[in-house]
Amino acid sequence: MAIIPVPQLSDNYAYLVVDDASRECGVVDCSEAAKVLDAVQRQGLKLVAVLPTHWHFDHVGGNEDLARALPGIRVYGARNENGRIPAQTNEVADGATVRVGALTGRVIGIPAHTNGHVAYYFPELEAVFTGDTMFIAGCGRVFEGKAETMVASLAKLAALPAATRVYCGHEYTVKNLEFALTLEPGNQALKAKYAWAKKARAAGQFTIPSTIGDEQQFNPFLRTASPELRASLKKIDPALPDDPVAIFAAARALKDKF
Ligand code: ZN
Ligand code: FE
Repeated sequence: MAIIPVPQLSDNYAYLVVDDASRECGVVDCSEAAKVLDAVQRQGLKLVAVLPTHWHFDHVGGNEDLARALPGIRVYGARNENGRIPAQTNEVADGATVRVGALTGRVIGIPAHTNGHVAYYFPELEAVFTGDTMFIAGCGRVFEGKAETMVASLAKLAALPAATRVYCGHEYTVKNLEFALTLEPGNQALKAKYAWAKKARAAGQFTIPSTIGDEQQFNPFLRTASPELRASLKKIDPALPDDPVAIFAAARALKDKF
């Protein structure tokens, strides 16, 4: 009840982060304000903060409408997004905290998809909102950083407690798992997750959240040390060095075309 997904556009998720005591909530990544405001009203909540993970339209497209509908609402924006977050009122950076009622979220700078991409980690909820950096069984495209930037950002997320639930920006899970299986066809945890995700989607269910511990079992972009994954990539490029960044970059390049 503390985290409520609100589907947006064709495959995006906004999330309401609810402080049960005060009934205040924040919204992570709002692209369609009407659907978010609807959910807020249906749940009898008060929306007090907007928590965008990065500046892309499908994550902030509803900010202006929310600010118009709810004067005084706090709209957080990462410093390294250089003012690209619409309706921003509060600037944050890596290590800053955000407030939703009595809940405190920690801002984690995870650049690479965009320079100012952040995650919001709520220890009390055992949850992290990863936007377009970590997806279930995948990661975002590297638009504004380099492969090593993304490797470092994913490592920061992977260092959170294993039980931390991962709420990501898109419902890409089945396609991500299909790609992951091309690299690790023998990974049992991966095969099981794929069977589960196909069933969940066929039944119209969301595949979020997963957990940091689970991602380490099947997310190929966290598994650059896997012998099977390395062997699959070396079949394509025998000269590929045994270096985590090079392995990551090779996997990411394949995924870009998958
Ligand atoms: Zn994006
Ligand atoms: Fe996106």
